[in-house]
Amino acid sequence: MKNLDKASIKIVLPNEVATIIRTLTEHGYEAYAVGGCVRDSILGRKPGDWDITTSALPEQVKALFRRTIDTGIQHGTVTVMFGKNGFEVTTYRIDGAYEDARHPKNVEFTSRLEEDLKRRDFTINAMAYNDDSGVVDVFDGLGDLDRGIIRCVGDAYDRFGEDALRILRAVRFSAQLGFEIEKKTSEAITQLASTLEKISKERIHTELNKMLKSAHPEYFLRADELGIMQVIMPEYHALSREQKLFGGKMAVGCACELPEKYASMLLFAGECEGTECTGIHQNASEVCRQVLRGLKLDNATIDTAALLVRQCGLELTEDESRLRHIMYEVGPQSIIRVLDFRLTYERTREDEEQIEKVIKVQELCQKIIERGDCLSLKELKITGRDLLELGIPAGKRLGEVLNALLMAVLDDQSLNTAKELADRARHF
Ligand code: ATP
Ligand code: MG
Repeated sequence: MKNLDKASIKIVLPNEVATIIRTLTEHGYEAYAVGGCVRDSILGRKPGDWDITTSALPEQVKALFRRTIDTGIQHGTVTVMFGKNGFEVTTYRIDGAYEDARHPKNVEFTSRLEEDLKRRDFTINAMAYNDDSGVVDVFDGLGDLDRGIIRCVGDAYDRFGEDALRILRAVRFSAQLGFEIEKKTSEAITQLASTLEKISKERIHTELNKMLKSAHPEYFLRADELGIMQVIMPEYHALSREQKLFGGKMAVGCACELPEKYASMLLFAGECEGTECTGIHQNASEVCRQVLRGLKLDNATIDTAALLVRQCGLELTEDESRLRHIMYEVGPQSIIRVLDFRLTYERTREDEEQIEKVIKVQELCQKIIERGDCLSLKELKITGRDLLELGIPAGKRLGEVLNALLMAVLDDQSLNTAKELADRARHF
């Protein structure tokens, strides 16, 4: 983008946003779309949400709209509802001193838009817009959008000192937009990266996820160079440069598929790169578990991620009997996912032969599943109770017999009849 001309920028506001701004204006208040939605609109990106900033106090906003929700009334935010859609309307405010690099101790309302823009993190996030005034840009956010630069509003040390999450937001925006981080801003990041320790794992996780799903997940490397990963994911920091690079590329491939499993992928990818992808990646899987636990992810997610990492090196065979055994070990519900993950891995390595092999095996698994082959005890045509009736005593022995029967059926599906299995059971 070149030479953004403030006067010529026209943003098409959604009807609801235009209505909110018009209503407030007609009652003598100021109101603007602000922040991310202005930035994204100017860049031609679709805004995720539309925030409105106004000189009206929360009670005054509430008096003007039929349905509102007190989202964060103490911080000046009221959500105005139109059908199912909500729009956050926040009173111009000055953030007070921060108590813990996270929360402002108190906020103070102001009647000046400029004060409100000043509290925002980056110049590109500190612009406001309405149809009457056009773009209000006090800190040359337009210039920075034009140059492709993330720059703090005001003194970078102060701003990161107030709220350490901004450190991660800077890298996340740079990954989403493909922007560079301005020199002073990046120096301050390096200096203050260790203060990210104060930020909750959940918030860190949200930012990391956004980075992974961005246009440039490989910017994890930049986060690492700036000293951020060392603080928030030391396991990743410990990998070699090649491993980290590979992890970044792997993340690109995985982003759509399994967005929430980023850490495992990066680690797995790192751990596997350079060691042939065969055998079971027990170690990578353990590291992955540790990292995801550290990020406070839920157990189901951690289990799935660890499984993917552990099983990703599975044998790629086109022998159906052997494949059924593998499906049983991995879990029939998980096999396709594991193979998807493997496919991403091989694509990252650009190994055409292996890519084809994975696709073939995947098709074969699909066929086996659709055919309804017996892949677990519950599809076996004999039960524990049947075995008891045949005189096999309850306990460990019974389990062993059932298992042996299943192994035989995995080898040869034609054995899966009540009669055949009963005959075999008697021989044990
Ligand atoms: P996205 O919604 O794509 O994550 P965004 O810029 O809209 O990006 P939000 O978190 O929705 O980000 O916040 C809306 C606006 O609020 C930002 O554009 C910025 O002006 C301001 N803001 C959000 N978080 C902070 C923060 N930690 N410090 C300062 N200003 C912030
Ligand atoms: Mg937003």
